Amino acid sequence: MVDRIYNFSPGPAVLPYEVLEQASRDVVNFQGLGMGLIEVSHRSKQFIAVMDEAEALLRELMGIPDNYKVLFLQGGASSQFFMVPMNLLGPGKKATYLNTGTWAKKAIKEAKLFGEVEVAYSSEEQNFIRVPKQGEYTVSPDSEYLYLVSNNTIYGTQFPEFPVVEKMMVCDMSSDILSRPFDVSRFGLIFAGAQKNLGPAGVTIVVIREDLLDRAPATTPTMLNYKTHADKGSMFNTPPCFAVYVVGLVLKWLKGIGGVPAIDRINREKAALLYAKIDESDYYRGHAEPASRSLMNVTFNLATPALEAKFVAEAEAIGLNGLKGHRSIGGCRASIYNAFPSEGVAKLVSFMSEFEKANPV
Ligand SMILES: *Cc1c(COP(=O)(O)O)cnc(C)c1O
Repeated sequence: MVDRIYNFSPGPAVLPYEVLEQASRDVVNFQGLGMGLIEVSHRSKQFIAVMDEAEALLRELMGIPDNYKVLFLQGGASSQFFMVPMNLLGPGKKATYLNTGTWAKKAIKEAKLFGEVEVAYSSEEQNFIRVPKQGEYTVSPDSEYLYLVSNNTIYGTQFPEFPVVEKMMVCDMSSDILSRPFDVSRFGLIFAGAQKNLGPAGVTIVVIREDLLDRAPATTPTMLNYKTHADKGSMFNTPPCFAVYVVGLVLKWLKGIGGVPAIDRINREKAALLYAKIDESDYYRGHAEPASRSLMNVTFNLATPALEAKFVAEAEAIGLNGLKGHRSIGGCRASIYNAFPSEGVAKLVSFMSEFEKANPV
């Protein structure tokens, strides 16, 4: 693995090295066909097998019940911000949203184009340092769904447990899908852009309960109707072939290391190391309230923006890349998704100790 740095990028993000190696070979010559994977027809039996395997692995690893469809869509996770209400809301219908960060806010804005939105909770005035606890908000009985973002990539907060509500939930899991076990059947719809925890940019996974496929108004454009893609196995038009294929390789890798229970343990260990370092002194200050801390994106500040800039630059010089925080909150952010190696976290922690000693405040 020469020339590999530790990539803390929030997304697109680090992928398993063996996945990259396999993909690089298959791009040139796929299964001895004499043509590369990205040249093969999406209707060929070879590519159909790629799609089928990716779906089967996702179903197995997430424990997706049979009455749910798995869709491979384009347009990024951001297109789901409007596709969800376009398909599930309508004039006179209401949905409940939890405003826990930038991605939730964007989804709220889009939902308002299609129906009534009840924002039952917001941590915006506290600069999104937390997510709500059970019982801190109420969901109107006439609401169609409760929408939440499981992991707030920018602020570094995450629901430690999913809400227990009567309503079906709709969840943006773009930055923590397959990072921990959970019960899919409590959700009507789950979506995730692939480029954080699943693969390269270009495909968005949607897991939708079958009975919701008939809710879209007749005026819904064909390509924006979930049913179109569900009925055609995500092959109504050309799917994002390369991205789906790499997602399949990542899922195979995940299964190989023990699946979601194994990665959950590893993720908890990695995050615990970093948070222990942050909590050890006042030198590094965590952005998120401890009870809302993300296992995927660890956000923290140093005493001044100048010191933060120095920290990020010196880290980069020793191969710790991508630690600059999102422009909306500044500071530092270490994104440690499933494929981020534990050794990289250990190296960051020891760099943090050295930096603290060398730059007293
Ligand atoms: C990155 C991200 C998005 C946006 O994804 P795109 O594919 O770029 O549209 C949405 N939600 C969450 C939680 C994210 O982390």
